[in-house]
Amino acid sequence: MFQEIPVSDEHIVAFKVSGRLTDADYQRFLPRLTTLIHKYAPLSVLLELENFRGWDLKAAWDDLRFGKQHDKDFERIAIVGAKPWQKWMTALGRAFLSAEIRYFDRDQLQEAWDWLRGKEEETGRDEEALEVPELQPYAHLLAAVDFSPHSEYAVARAVELARHYDARLSLLHVVEYISYPYYDYDLLMSEAYDFVEEEQQAYDRALERMNGVVAQLDYAKLHHEVLWGEAEQTILSYAEAQKVDLIVLGSHGHHGLARLLGSTASRIVKRAEKDVSVVHLPAE
Ligand code: AMP
Repeated sequence: MFQEIPVSDEHIVAFKVSGRLTDADYQRFLPRLTTLIHKYAPLSVLLELENFRGWDLKAAWDDLRFGKQHDKDFERIAIVGAKPWQKWMTALGRAFLSAEIRYFDRDQLQEAWDWLRGKEEETGRDEEALEVPELQPYAHLLAAVDFSPHSEYAVARAVELARHYDARLSLLHVVEYISYPYYDYDLLMSEAYDFVEEEQQAYDRALERMNGVVAQLDYAKLHHEVLWGEAEQTILSYAEAQKVDLIVLGSHGHHGLARLLGSTASRIVKRAEKDVSVVHLPAE
């Protein structure tokens, strides 16, 4: 499946790529990509691979044929989280596209965006020479919603802050895959699980709940989005794609603090290269 991540830059498009790609996926995806090419080419593209299990034969053919037709329409292609597929994609990409292609691990998301935006020269900054810029008011806030009381409270705080700054406010819910991505093992398990229908139902339910949240809020500059993926990675990805300047999270979620890998909130605080506000319920 291809899922578009809305991007605020005109010449960059971003897609999450997950599951096993079929011809039907390409029949939906390629017309959209063609429209974007006609509007904005040359394009730079971010492809984020999550739970990716390769291509069906016909889909691989669609991919190559399209690549050949649009060889000159792409400038830079960043592929994020591609480890098991890296060699394959390098060979195919180099053969059919003259665009620059680079691979980034999942935790190098920021580097991938900087590279697409042509900002890579700025990395390795000299801390001593760094000038403190003038303080800018927040312009775009993102509240991460998992429908727990914690996130409900965080949303209320986000609305209050957005009003204060007259900022845009995006609400994002991430529907996590039922077939959880164990990256290196996933290739072995690829055919064993087919949760497509259950996942679609989960997505529809989430969208309904999100619409319910939005209906209760009275704020003009409100947007909402429901995306597939892994919560931490998708929140960071969306925040970067949309040039969000403050991420607002609940301190806990449905999982509580006892999650195996640590909480979503603490991992986002650690990885985000932008402000993050972790909102605690008063009774905590
Ligand atoms: P957790 O660390 O999972 O206990 O959740 C902490 C906070 O992260 C929640 O209050 C939400 O703000 C955010 N969060 C967790 N999971 C999701 C998700 N699937 N979609 C959107 N936000 C989430």
